[in-house]
Formats: sequence, C-alpha cells, structure tokens
Amino acid sequence: MDEKASNEVNEKEIICVICPNSCRLRVSQDPKTKEINVEGNLCPRGKKYGISEYSNPVRMLITTMRVEKGKLPVIPVRSTEAIPKSLLIEAVKVVNDTHCLAPIKMGDILIDNILNTKISVIASRDIDVKN
Ligand code: SF4
Repeated sequence: MDEKASNEVNEKEIICVICPNSCRLRVSQDPKTKEINVEGNLCPRGKKYGISEYSNPVRMLITTMRVEKGKLPVIPVRSTEAIPKSLLIEAVKVVNDTHCLAPIKMGDILIDNILNTKISVIASRDIDVKN
C-alpha cells in the first residue's frame, strides 16, 4: 500500500449543534491508531458530539403518516430515538408506505422496530375519528 495514502488523515468539518455557540469542529481519525481527534470544541460535549457525528451520525426521523378515518388525512410522527443517518431515507419510505387508523393518541406506537433498529415511530399528536 502507498505509504502516503495509508497515512492520509480523513478530516471532516462538523458544526456542533449542542448549544448556540455552533463551534466549528475539525474531526479526524488517526489511520494507525484509529483514534478520533476533535479540535475546535469549546467544551467536552463538543468532543463527544464530534466523535459521534464522525463515526455514526444519527438523526431524529420527523415526518407525517397517512391516517384512515381520521379528522385529518395525515398525522405528524417521530422516531423515539435518533436513527442512523444512512437509514433515514429508507425509514421515510417505510413511513410513506404505512397508514394508521384513527383514533390515535399522542405517543401511540405506529411502527415498531423500524428497519430492525429497535426504534419505534410514534404519533406526535392525537387524531380523532372523522364524524
Ligand atoms: S463545543 Fe461545546 S460550546 Fe461549542 S457548540 Fe458544542 S456544546 Fe457548545
């Protein structure tokens, strides 16, 4: 293997969203030790966020789902935890292909264990039955 390539550092710039300071993090991984280094953080929470975003970025799934027999045609839904960013588009497709039946209470589980993540998709509000 090319020595230069094997020593190449894959640096990413990530904005920390934990607090309004929005620190600009420079995150890189040592190719030999695999240690992830974070620079530009003003506090330890930024280091933790930078490592997490570099190694396994996750996002909350927030979208809507079709409702049958409800007062409204769709209901806002969200995941109970952040899911891997790489699965987000597929997870939205699963929600788009699913519909639920009114009445629905806020917090009801509408999809359990989406994409085998052990994370549920729940209702973000109540929807009553259409009169
Ligand atoms: S690194 Fe710390 S101070 Fe900077 S944005 Fe993140 S949480 Fe805020």
